[in-house]
Parts: sequence; structure tokens; C-alpha cells
Amino acid sequence: MELKQVSKSTWAVVDGSTFGNVGCIRIPNHIVVIDTGMTPGIAKEFHTRIQEDVGTPITEVILTHYHSDHVFGAQEFQQYPLIASIKMAELYPDLLEERWSPQSIEAMRKAYAETEPEFSQQLENLQIITPVNTFETSLILGENEEIQVTQTGGHTVGHSTVYFVPERILFAGDLIFCQQYPYAGDPTNNPQTWIQALEEILEMDIDTIVPGHGPLCDKAEIRLHLAYFRALEHWICSKIKLGAPLSEVQKDKETGPSPPYQLKAERRFEATIQRWYNFYSEIIH
Ligand SMILES: [Zn+2]
Repeated sequence: MELKQVSKSTWAVVDGSTFGNVGCIRIPNHIVVIDTGMTPGIAKEFHTRIQEDVGTPITEVILTHYHSDHVFGAQEFQQYPLIASIKMAELYPDLLEERWSPQSIEAMRKAYAETEPEFSQQLENLQIITPVNTFETSLILGENEEIQVTQTGGHTVGHSTVYFVPERILFAGDLIFCQQYPYAGDPTNNPQTWIQALEEILEMDIDTIVPGHGPLCDKAEIRLHLAYFRALEHWICSKIKLGAPLSEVQKDKETGPSPPYQLKAERRFEATIQRWYNFYSEIIH
């Protein structure tokens, strides 16, 4: 795991070792951590890296969204204030009863026992920590308002980004999958607010983007995502207006707009088609 210095006061792990990328920002009287990685073991290593390379004490831990590869490391950071948007935190009671119930986690542990033994073992003592420090639409940290946390939605309901104003760094969470096909198939995914959030980011003063997945990037990556999302939205909506059922759209997916990246595309591509079809069907009919 490499905790890479991104700018004078920001660091990030973007080498894939944490699954979802993680990072931190240091300003006077604050060390703010962004996301926690896929497992408590990964989070422990990340925590140690911060203590050795950035300093102490950590003052806030911001969770960009509820996906396991960003929040399953939270137990390692539970002594600090865990912060999330209200809309994200509101998902937890249902998640803990269904997708993250002890039975579901046990089933997940068994399913990964052979292919990902290390990950599977980590699930044995997993505690899921609900973020109790919440904000509605935005949160400002720092005496000079250096850190702006904004609830954008899009990728999931309650998704947030973290902008470090003085050094023009944006921690974009999963609004950006750099050099890989984005996952837009979450049941709470909202393509319209995702597109809107990307349009707003284009207007911001940003030098470097820490994406939720993949290497560091800049606004060129935003433009690539936007062009593809707009084309996909247009294509799916025109199919729906012609009365095409989901099965036909899925079958024809290769005739739609070309994804910007092929890497690990297939499953995410299929999930995206399905979610966007359902989302726009409700709006159009
Ligand atoms: Zn995600």
C-alpha cells in the first residue's frame, strides 16, 4: 500500500490495495480522512500509514458513500467522528437488516472463501459502524473553510465529495472511475444527479482529482464520463420512448454508445443498463 502525497497537504492511496481509494487532508488542528477501504485489515494498514507519514491526531473521518469497498474499514477508525450525509446514514438500518445482516455477511464470507481467502477471513470479525455524525447538504471544515464536503448523490443516494480549496484537490468518491467502466447500477443510482454533479465539478477550480477507483486524474476524465453518460442517457431514453422492453435494450447494448473503457466492463455495464432503464422508464411513463 502506497500512501501517495498528492499535494502539499493531501495524500491518497490509489494503487488499488484498498479497493475503493482512500485519502486524507492535513490542515491546522485537523487531519481529515476520506473513506476507509474494503476491510478492517486494509484500514489498519492505512491508519498506520497516516500516523507515520501525515501525523496525529485524526479529527474527522468522512465516508463518501455506503459501498462496502469504502466503508467496511470503518471499525478501525471508530474512535474518531465518522461523518456522512444524512441520506447515506439513513440507508444503514435497512442495510443492517438485509444486505449486511449477520447471515448475509456469513454467506459472503463463504462465497469468497476460495477465490479471495484473505478478504473472506476479514469478514469474520467485521463490525459495521453506522456514521452518527451527519450533515444535510454540505459541511465546511477548517478555520478558513478549507474543506468543503458536498452531498452530490448520483452514484448512490447520499454520495458526497470532498473539496480541498487551497490546493484545488477534489476527492470525487465514486463519481469518477478513472480509466475503467463506472459502476452505475446501484439500486439508488440517479443518473440525472450524477450528470449534474459532474457538470458542477467542471465549473470548479480543480487541478487534481482523487477518483473513487483508478489513478489520479483531472477534468479530462470528467469530460469523458459526461460525454458517455449523456450519450447513454439519450440512447436508453429513445429506446424506452419506442416501447422497447428491458430485455431488448440489454440484447442491443453493443449497438449503443461505446463505453470509454473496456476494463472490467461487462458486469458493471449490464448493471448500468438495467438501472438506467428502470430509472428513466419511471420518468418517461
Ligand atoms: Zn461505489
